[in-house]
Amino acid sequence: MRKNVFSKIICCCGAFAVLTGLVWAGDKLDAAAQARFASAEVSAVPRHIQVALDAGHGGMDGGCVSVDGTPEKGINLDIALTERELLTVMGYDVSLTREEDKAIFDEGITGLAKQKQSDMKNRLAVFDSAQDFAISIHQNQFTDSRFSGAQMFYSRRNSEGERLAAALQKQFVTLLQPDNERETKPVDDELYLLDKTDTPAVMAECGFLSNPEEAALLESDEYRRQVAFTIMTGALVYTGGDRAQYTEPVVTDEETAE
Ligand SMILES: [Zn+2]
Repeated sequence: MRKNVFSKIICCCGAFAVLTGLVWAGDKLDAAAQARFASAEVSAVPRHIQVALDAGHGGMDGGCVSVDGTPEKGINLDIALTERELLTVMGYDVSLTREEDKAIFDEGITGLAKQKQSDMKNRLAVFDSAQDFAISIHQNQFTDSRFSGAQMFYSRRNSEGERLAAALQKQFVTLLQPDNERETKPVDDELYLLDKTDTPAVMAECGFLSNPEEAALLESDEYRRQVAFTIMTGALVYTGGDRAQYTEPVVTDEETAE
C-alpha cells in the first residue's frame, strides 16, 4: 500500500520534472532526444477532485425549525458527514466547513452580528479552497405547509454552478422525488457564499421542514442517507462529463527510470 502511494508520488514528481525539463530545454533538445520524448508513452491519471461541503448553520444558529421543533442545523450536519464518507470513497478530496454543532467564527469575536460575519467568511474560505465545486446543505421552510421538495440554487454569474445545480436537481427527481417539478434557481447577492466564491457552488435546499411529511422523512436516518447518496450521484454526473479536466499527464515508471 505504502509502496503504491510512494510510487504514485514518485511517478507524479517524475512527470513534473520531465515537463519542466521540456519547457526549459525547448529547442535546445537535439533530434534524437526529441524522438525519445515523442516515443515515450505519456498517460493521464485522474487527480483527486476537490470538494467543499457546508453543513448550513450550527451552534447558536439553528436555521429553520421543523413542525416538531427539530432545527435544520443537525439535519444539515448529518447529511454533510455522510456525504463526505460517500465522496471520499469515490476518490474525492472533501473539506467540511464544520464537523460538529458549532458556528465557526474566529476566537475572541463578540456580538452576534460580528460572529455571524466571521462565521460566513470562514465558510467562504473553505469554499474558495476547493478547486472543483462546493455544496452548501440546507433545509427549507415556508408559511404554507403544503410546499415540499428539494431545490438547488446557484449564482447567476457562475455557469458551472448552474450545471452542478441542474445535475443535483435531476438526481433528486430521479432518485428521491419523482413529483418534484421545482426548477434550479439563480441568485445574485442574496446568498453570500454563492455570490462571493468563484468555485462552482450550489445551495442544496433538500426539503421543507414546514411540511410535516417531508420533515418526518428528513428526521429519519435512512432518508438522510438517501439524500446524501442522491447528492453524491449528482456530483458524479457533474464531474463525469469531462475527465480530462480532472487529470494530469504522467509518464509511466518505465520512462522515468533513466
Ligand atoms: Zn438554512
